[in-house]
Amino acid sequence: MSRPLLMIPGPIEFTDEVMATMARPTASHVDPDFIAAFGQALKDLRSVFLAGDDFQPFVLAGSGTLAMDSAVANLVEPGDRVLVIDTGYFSLRMADICRRYGAEVDLLGVPPGETVSATEVAAQLQQNAYDLVTITHVDTSTGVLTDVQGITTVAKDAGSLVIVDGVCAAAAEEMRQQAWGVDVYLTASQKAIGVPPGLALLVVSPAGMRKWRGRSAPVGSYYSDWSSWLPIMESYEGLRPSYFATPAVNLVLALSVSLQQILAEGMDAVFARHRLIGDAVKAGVSALGLGQVPTDAAHAAHTLTCPRYPDGVDGSLLGRVRAHGAILAGGLYPAIKTEYFRIGHMGAVSANDILATLGAVETSLRQSGYAAEPGIALAAAQAVLAGGE
Ligand code: PMP
Repeated sequence: MSRPLLMIPGPIEFTDEVMATMARPTASHVDPDFIAAFGQALKDLRSVFLAGDDFQPFVLAGSGTLAMDSAVANLVEPGDRVLVIDTGYFSLRMADICRRYGAEVDLLGVPPGETVSATEVAAQLQQNAYDLVTITHVDTSTGVLTDVQGITTVAKDAGSLVIVDGVCAAAAEEMRQQAWGVDVYLTASQKAIGVPPGLALLVVSPAGMRKWRGRSAPVGSYYSDWSSWLPIMESYEGLRPSYFATPAVNLVLALSVSLQQILAEGMDAVFARHRLIGDAVKAGVSALGLGQVPTDAAHAAHTLTCPRYPDGVDGSLLGRVRAHGAILAGGLYPAIKTEYFRIGHMGAVSANDILATLGAVETSLRQSGYAAEPGIALAAAQAVLAGGE
């Protein structure tokens, strides 16, 4: 039986091997095979983020918001000053979490579709000193990709720690955690990491761990506190049984499978494939005459595309696209929510998946009364894909 493709910015389509692992009988969390798989997954997470051996990975049962909560709960002390680079919905969530743990937050924001440059961040850092700077690598509400490397460089020069929300970017957009000096790179399982929803993933730099160790105030969250989780992560990596709170056994096993698949492809190849697929989708959308939320292709994400509805077409388009075989997402950024939709294309996504999706969009636009020349989006996307062969 055919089912529509899940082409939203997470959860995504997962590989057969990952789904088969989800269906395996659940093991004990102290079973030696499970311990070995968890230990390997922790090492592999470092490799996927291109982090150093002295960086500390954490894998927690929870969603991406828990990964954000965990980073902030452990690294922010009441009264700390935090600069949030605000590129959309999820940057504001990060600001809320920082305030919840007692930080004084400044936002450096831009209108939807724009991004903040390293130069603008450097200017702000000259005005004020910040303990922490947070960046949303790809803001899922606008499809904007932010210059993590450039901003991290200026933030570290100014003596701030850097937390990067990579939920819609990790294992897809280029990230070299050690080389770029990112203190926390965090994500969730359900996007390019390629595992059903339910895992929060973080890798923390030695400087980040030092800031946590030097805290004077206790961590204000019981579940997120790294004092409880660090010994567990060290035990699994050292192949010793341990327990604080039951891990999501099948999800962790599926994670170990997915990370191996990602590493078998190779990180540079993974980044290049996402660039090619992302460029192909954007070429197809442009050929249809649709605008996009990011104001410049140079800062558009490769993990999702945010086309604007053409005149006379509204959200009912998405129901038609679904009937033609692809599930897409509506807008998310409150001020422009009804003006655009979102196509996710990350993880194990193939060229065929995006061609099928663009075909469904094209046909549905025509059914919505918009004059889209048959095949025009597919031809544009295929021309990009052919360039990558
Ligand atoms: N940050 C970003 C950039 C996201 O895209 C999301 C989820 N779409 C989150 C954080 C929150 O993740 P979750 O929904 O898994 O809690």
